[in-house]
Amino acid sequence: MYHFAPFPIYVVYSRQNQLDAAYEVDELYREKQYEQQRSVSADAITREDTDRSSQFAARNYYLRVASLLRKISSTKIGAILLKQFKTAVYIVPRTGGCYCAQTYPLIYQIAPEINYSRGKGSSYIWFAPDEKFQDDVLFHELVHAYRFAFDKFEPRSVANGEYNTEEFLAHQLQNIYLSELKKPIYFTYRTEEISTKARIYEHFLTNPEFPMVLKYFLRHEYLAMLAAHVEGSDYNPFRDAEKIEQKYLERLGDPTIKTLPRF
Ligand SMILES: [Zn+2]
Repeated sequence: MYHFAPFPIYVVYSRQNQLDAAYEVDELYREKQYEQQRSVSADAITREDTDRSSQFAARNYYLRVASLLRKISSTKIGAILLKQFKTAVYIVPRTGGCYCAQTYPLIYQIAPEINYSRGKGSSYIWFAPDEKFQDDVLFHELVHAYRFAFDKFEPRSVANGEYNTEEFLAHQLQNIYLSELKKPIYFTYRTEEISTKARIYEHFLTNPEFPMVLKYFLRHEYLAMLAAHVEGSDYNPFRDAEKIEQKYLERLGDPTIKTLPRF
């Protein structure tokens, strides 16, 4: 295990343990032993593989993820995010086919029904670093982990399902992060389409829900408030939220509407 001190962030190579537990986890699900299923699964995910054959891959994994975490913590927005964590985050390899970066709570909801992506507290990030899955993607996933940590993860559809609120927040912060590093930013979280601040802000004027959701996060999400004041990122829709809202209202051209509601 690699502990990214002083933060409660642990990189745990648990690939074999996850594979070994998969059958039992499925069985417990079939037997409707949901609490037991959850605890067996959490244990497998957060316990380091000890078999000799995993040692080399584990060391490699720790080196690669540690270097991405160091890069994140060297940025202003990254340092702000990392400082917030009070509960553990486990970064672990994915066992099966990808998508190779996803974040889930360890204590997910089992009543009234099982929902693996609802829960609070400690979380784990399935992450396999490669050319595509780099520091900015890990940063994005850490935003989801942060939201779970503070029991705030609650996705709601934005702009006819173009985003949900959680992906919108994570994607905006990811672009702020990339902008601080003077790297290309992405139009949306769904594709790898490179874009510009001007084009993305222009897109925010196509649906009132974009300025509204920026307003919502500035009011309710401490991280968005902190991000609005972070220096060094040309792209920063939290800093620019008021201007975006004013521009939207200008285009609307209805003098009786002076402000938009929060999302
Ligand atoms: Zn995401």
